Amino acid sequence: MTITRLGFNLTLLSVALLNAAAAVNAPAAPPARDDFTVHPEVADQLRPIFQKLKDEKMRFGYGGADALYRTDTEPVIQNDDFDPGRYSFELAGKMKQAGFNGLMLLFGPWRNGFGELPRLEKAVRFWAEGCRRHDLSLMVDIQFAQNAAAYRRFHAGTDLKIHQAVCPNDWKYWEEQILERCLITAKVAKDFPNVLGAALDFEMYIKDGANYPGPCFCDACFAEFCRRTELSSPVTLKPTQRQEWIRDQQRLLQYMAFMEWKMAETCSRLEKAVHAVNPDFVFAYLPFFEWFPGSTRGLGTPSQPVLVGSEMEYSAGFSPAVAQRTARMKDEGYPAL
Ligand SMILES: [Zn+2]
Repeated sequence: MTITRLGFNLTLLSVALLNAAAAVNAPAAPPARDDFTVHPEVADQLRPIFQKLKDEKMRFGYGGADALYRTDTEPVIQNDDFDPGRYSFELAGKMKQAGFNGLMLLFGPWRNGFGELPRLEKAVRFWAEGCRRHDLSLMVDIQFAQNAAAYRRFHAGTDLKIHQAVCPNDWKYWEEQILERCLITAKVAKDFPNVLGAALDFEMYIKDGANYPGPCFCDACFAEFCRRTELSSPVTLKPTQRQEWIRDQQRLLQYMAFMEWKMAETCSRLEKAVHAVNPDFVFAYLPFFEWFPGSTRGLGTPSQPVLVGSEMEYSAGFSPAVAQRTARMKDEGYPAL
């Protein structure tokens, strides 16, 4: 009886609230949510370029664009002198002879000129020509979290001091440093069909660590989570207390899911912006499957899957763990090759 009455009263209250909302015609607030599951997209046919990659397999060698372009007798590039006519790209030729069909070259860190934004187009054209001469494809490797000084800082939500890392969800960083480089690569790919796309190297070569120590509790991430889940934190809560407070609220797993969902959203924003310009642009990422949870579903689509690199074989070779990850990608419908 009591339950019925409570339900009845709540129903009346709901109707009253709905009427009140309709009466003032309030703008819709972002929907509250407690489920941040990143769902698979509907399966689709691969675009021809991705089918070709799947059929032919990528046998790529990885290296630094700034270190491998010349022999000992060829000159060092000075300033903007990216003239492929002066170079033999001997190493690329050797890679081809050895059975490789492409190079994945790191254009960065930005201090050496190859990865700096004002020079990147020339540098990519330079290597695109070098690869074309030896019938090799090229993937432009972009290092995540470099050049991050001007952007919002990651915060662990604890006493841990992290000074170097960018917030993984800071779209301004992604737009100005990652998207910009992808669009330059896409522009060069119009003239050089052997330029396939970009590999995002998520292994962060910064002094605070190669990966994040946990979810980001910076002002923006924490506020967005609280807003979406309709959670109110005490005004006295310090940034260094945020992780503990979320844990006390039994919300840590939900916060991790939010991070994954947010990463998928950010990567998807990048993917859509680049594929709007060139739908055949190939994304890859390193170093392992789901190094940043959410990145696979964000960067890949069913018809344009992301290529997932694996550095696990560096010293150990192919192992059951690699086979398990590959099987999981397939079984759980990840848009990945
Ligand atoms: Zn953040």
